[in-house]
Order: sequence, then C-alpha cells, then structure tokens
Amino acid sequence: MLNNVKVPEEFIRDIITPACGGDTRVVDAFRRTPRSKFIDEAMCRRPYVDDALPIGYGQTISKPSTVAFMTQALDVTSEHKVLEIGSGSGFQAAILSRLAKTVYTVERIPELYRRAMTIIRRMSITNVRFKIDDGNLGWDENAPYHRIIATAEARNLPSELTAQLADGGKMLIPLNGNIVLVTKEGDSIKKENIAPCSFVDFVCE
Ligand code: SAH
Repeated sequence: MLNNVKVPEEFIRDIITPACGGDTRVVDAFRRTPRSKFIDEAMCRRPYVDDALPIGYGQTISKPSTVAFMTQALDVTSEHKVLEIGSGSGFQAAILSRLAKTVYTVERIPELYRRAMTIIRRMSITNVRFKIDDGNLGWDENAPYHRIIATAEARNLPSELTAQLADGGKMLIPLNGNIVLVTKEGDSIKKENIAPCSFVDFVCE
C-alpha cells in the first residue's frame, strides 16, 4: 500500500528535474520516495509544492528543490557510507538510501528520531541507521564516511564532522546562509560556497 503511492509527474518535471540538473539517479530516487509519507496530513496537505513544511517541535521538512540540489551536489554512489545530521522527517535520508550503500542519520529530538525511523521502516527501506544524539559529535563508530550532509544551519564547521570525513570525501553543510561544500584531501580541508540557503538552526548545546 505505502509503496504504491504515485509521485506526481509535474512535481518531478517542474521542481525536481531542474533543481538536480536532470540527474537521472536523483530523479529516480524522488520518483520512488513519496514526500507525502513524511508529512503529517493534519499539518499540511500540499506535499508536492516547493515549500519547507512543519513537522512539529519547531522543525521542518526541507524544500524539495533544496533536497534535490543537495543530493545531486553530494555526488553519492552505491559504494558510499553517508552520514546525515538532522534526520527531521526522514525524507532526505530516504532519498539518500536510494543512492548510497548505507545512510547513518543522527537527530537530537527523540520524537522526530522515532517518527523518521517508523516511516522509513514502513517503506521497507533497510539501509538507514538511526541515532539520537548531538550531531556536532557525528557518529564515530562508523567513521570514516565518504559523504556527510548536515540539514540544519550551523555557525561553525563542527570539527568532529571533518574528522569523520574520509580522505577524498565530500561534505555539504549550511553555514551562515550558504550551502558549503567541504572537501578533504589528506590534511587539507577546502570550503566552497555553492548556493545561498535558509535552514532551521543547527543546535549547539
Ligand atoms: N533532513 C530533514 C530536515 C530536517 S530539519 C528532512 O529531510 O526532513 C533539521 C533537523 O536537524 C531538525 O530535525 C533538528 O532537530 C535537527 N538538528 C538541529 N541541530 C541538531 C544537532 N545538533 N544534532 C542533531 N540534529 C540536529
């Protein structure tokens, strides 16, 4: 039942395809992952417009065009271990699960952690692992990660995240109004702003 919901073709054509530069793997991941499943019906009936929407606890499911853009920019392959900070609704993790080997996702709000895990398990997605913790610490046990994505906006780049990034790895993190691409080659860490953005805050406790 849950996996038979159809994602509208106009959503794919008008929002997702342009946002990911027509990347067919990303487009396919969105076709297979109905966003409607990640949104509480009582809160919103418009899953296929290009808006961030409330998911409770002051948090939001990100705009679909932002998820598409970041997923494409993250350049994930089926060999990759990916760490996500900020599970939120679980939607970005579900999209990444279609492209990666394994997705590790960390969320600080227990209710959202449970909600995301329930939805993703119900969809029969089996390559996502969940943790409740402060995402500033990453998830050390499974490091290094080929790819890291933060979906909350930080003021500074958390040093644990760069430490847990594999050599040759890439990280995307919203920092002070920009999505920043962080690359690691040996001891060298490079940062590049790739797009302006607006996200909920990355909480530092
Ligand atoms: N990827 C999510 C977007 C969620 S919004 C989705 O697809 O729906 C960002 C999430 O980051 C929120 O759920 C928020 O609780 C979480 N967050 C913020 N700061 C955090 C931190 N320090 N550690 C872990 N999660 C954090």
